[in-house]
Amino acid sequence: MSVQTDSDKRKQISVRGIVAVENVTEVKKAFNRHLHYTLVKDRNVATPRDYYFALAHTVRDHLVSRWIRTQQYYYEKDPKRVYYLSLEYYMGRSLQNTMINLGIQGNVDEALYQLGLDIEELEELEEDAGLGNGGLGRLAACFLDSMATLGLAAYGYGIRYEYGIFTQKIENGEQQEEPDDWLRYGNPWEKARPEFMLPVNFYGRVVDTPQGKKWIDTQVVFAMPYDNPIPGYNNNVVNTLRLWSAKSPIDFNLRFFNSGDYIQAVLDRNVAENISRVLYPNDNFFEGKELRLRQEYFMCAATLQDIIRRYKASKFGSREAVRTTFDSLPDKVAIQLNDTHPALAIPELLRILLDIEKLPYEKAWDLVVKCCAYTNHTVLPEALERWPCSMLENCLPRHMQLIYHINFLHLQEVQKRWPGDADRMRRMSLIEEEGEKRVNMANLCVVGSHAVNGVAAIHSEILKATVFRDFFEMWPDKFQNKTNGITPRRWLLLCNPALSDLICDKIGDEWTVHLEMLQKLKRWAKDPAFQRSVMKVKQENKLRLAGLIERDTGVRINPASMFDVQVKRIHEYKRQILNILHVITLYNRIKRDPSAVITPRTVMIGGKAAPGYFIAKQIIALACAVGNTVNNDPDVGDKLKLIYLENYRVTLAERIMPAADLSEQISTAGTEASGTGNMKFMLNGALTIGTMDGANVEMAEEAGEHNMFIFGMRVDDVEALKQRGYNAYEYYERNPELRQCVEQIRSGFFSPGEPGRFSHVADVLLHHDRFMHLADFDAYIEAQEKVSQVYQDQAKWAEMVIENIASSGKFSSDRTIAEYARQIWGVEPSWEKLPAPHDT
Ligand SMILES: *Cc1c(COP(=O)(O)O)cnc(C)c1O
Repeated sequence: MSVQTDSDKRKQISVRGIVAVENVTEVKKAFNRHLHYTLVKDRNVATPRDYYFALAHTVRDHLVSRWIRTQQYYYEKDPKRVYYLSLEYYMGRSLQNTMINLGIQGNVDEALYQLGLDIEELEELEEDAGLGNGGLGRLAACFLDSMATLGLAAYGYGIRYEYGIFTQKIENGEQQEEPDDWLRYGNPWEKARPEFMLPVNFYGRVVDTPQGKKWIDTQVVFAMPYDNPIPGYNNNVVNTLRLWSAKSPIDFNLRFFNSGDYIQAVLDRNVAENISRVLYPNDNFFEGKELRLRQEYFMCAATLQDIIRRYKASKFGSREAVRTTFDSLPDKVAIQLNDTHPALAIPELLRILLDIEKLPYEKAWDLVVKCCAYTNHTVLPEALERWPCSMLENCLPRHMQLIYHINFLHLQEVQKRWPGDADRMRRMSLIEEEGEKRVNMANLCVVGSHAVNGVAAIHSEILKATVFRDFFEMWPDKFQNKTNGITPRRWLLLCNPALSDLICDKIGDEWTVHLEMLQKLKRWAKDPAFQRSVMKVKQENKLRLAGLIERDTGVRINPASMFDVQVKRIHEYKRQILNILHVITLYNRIKRDPSAVITPRTVMIGGKAAPGYFIAKQIIALACAVGNTVNNDPDVGDKLKLIYLENYRVTLAERIMPAADLSEQISTAGTEASGTGNMKFMLNGALTIGTMDGANVEMAEEAGEHNMFIFGMRVDDVEALKQRGYNAYEYYERNPELRQCVEQIRSGFFSPGEPGRFSHVADVLLHHDRFMHLADFDAYIEAQEKVSQVYQDQAKWAEMVIENIASSGKFSSDRTIAEYARQIWGVEPSWEKLPAPHDT
């Protein structure tokens, strides 16, 4: 029996689960039971946080049988397992996502209403799982959702950082970092598995024995697994994300016990446990710290032991036995490396097969290459991992030996193919000899993998033509493209229920698992009624975001203005400065003619800067300073605002994407490997102003260039300009508006109390700008003028919005994962449901 109530601000739609009285009753009972037995509270003393935890446990109960049964099913059926290895998983919150994927949101909403509780208020009490920096970590999270939804026997492996990405506070117009103590109140979504704890070795030395090499005198750290459920969408699959936490061995620092300093020995246990203490907050930047190297190896070593254990123990054929040969390893195991961060999985797997399982070298190496595949995420040289040989030698002496050996055999092959080509040998070597000797981890990954992929078509082409050119000549068949995607469950169904409903009204709900279906919306692109409905939803979402911003910052924004948004990590290559230059240009134009009619805009910029990235922090300060000037100028009024969005993270992205009109994707062509923020905006009906970079190129291909605002240099133009020699002054001198902007920044117009405050930023723009901001300034301003003009014509704008939504199907991570599955992992996606358990 179905009940219809007005209890819920979130409309009931079929994809979010039918409301049935008996199920609502069950949810209420379970909630009360958890409040009593799990939280040990009654309703007189329970806090909102107690209610959140009672609710989380209630929802979690619905996962348990599905989780156990899915894992049992994998054991029985023994399909090829997919292992996704990543140092980052930017998961955000789990509560609403779990309810949606299990189809119980309707029942739970109704139950909480009947209990007199505001579910949205409780949802706000969940901490984000911020175990990632930006796009790379969020991609891993979207992939987990899609792998479960496509029924793959997949496992995510990573580190359970005690502190995730820092919390950003903007104080006096500057970024301050606060530690993200996300586990403070406990994590109801994880299950510790101390019984599966595994040892990981560091340091020590390698000795020759008659039985082969032995790595001895090591220091041991234990890896304690914490399992996190990953529910598929509406298919009763629950996969596992296993995150490792470092634990000291009981006898750690035994010598102190012997020397009698018991207290010191106990205190020193922290040293080992520091391995999983904190996420490194760098995005697209390599910081060669030993602790980070230890994190990377810790994750790989624990994960590979787990993979080998599961391979050996798997039931195969109809017999229950232990696998004794490794011949079928590549038929049962696919290992995907998310960038080079888990590259040590390659020498570690080789070490296990060689030193522990005693396979001959040729056989062991062949298995490694067949199992492993590598995804490249960037061509920025400062992001490429190059570990000093001295550090590896000290920390992981056996692995350093193996890398030398891999390199020796690899260079023999190069020599055979290109005799006497010493320069090519140098370029293709795993070891860089100039300056301090280092291991090039990307080269190690290419040599040790059967497949190498970029993350958007243009990026994959750039890889073959530049960083991996020599490798592409040697192994053309290794190189592939897998254009990134996002999960439409979190990035539409969850974050934008009103738009989801509107789409369901028109084309049904199949799009939730077959996003290409959105194409059907094209029929109504010019339909005035549908245009009005779409724009009404956008307006409601804008009002909601405006309310949030006013609550948090006190700044009032004009909800009739265009919401012009750039949210992503702060990085010079992403060119937030270009956006700021546009705001300053608009400001100067308003000041010159305060009566001129312009399209009102609220420009929002958000994102974290790596704490050690000086210029990135200056960019944040500049945005705040310009905002301060613009927002408080009475001549400007409602026409222009610049807001800095504090602490951009997954949960804030879920509020922003549905409310954006304009998406800023303005990196220098050739620098943004793919971008995924661009896709979230598109799916939620924002139009893109962007360069022909990363996945923007494919978005233009799908929607047509006439439905985007493409501007600026293409990759070839950027290359040509670099060849010719980029001279910022050429552009500076030619354009008086640009000159005025740069002068205002340089001379302290936005920082009157401290005139030299931003001189460094102006200096970068004029003298050492790797990303050629000024070369694209004219084209950018011109494209922005076009944006303003089209926005005046709301019917035209709405038509373009619908065309964009309808064209965004390609950017589902389901499509991406289906391609990885078939073309790299050798497994077949399935949209079949597992049988539902009878207990829920
Ligand atoms: C999607 C996402 C990103 C990636 O954004 P890009 O614009 O592709 O760099 C970064 N951070 C968060 C919180 C995200 O959700």
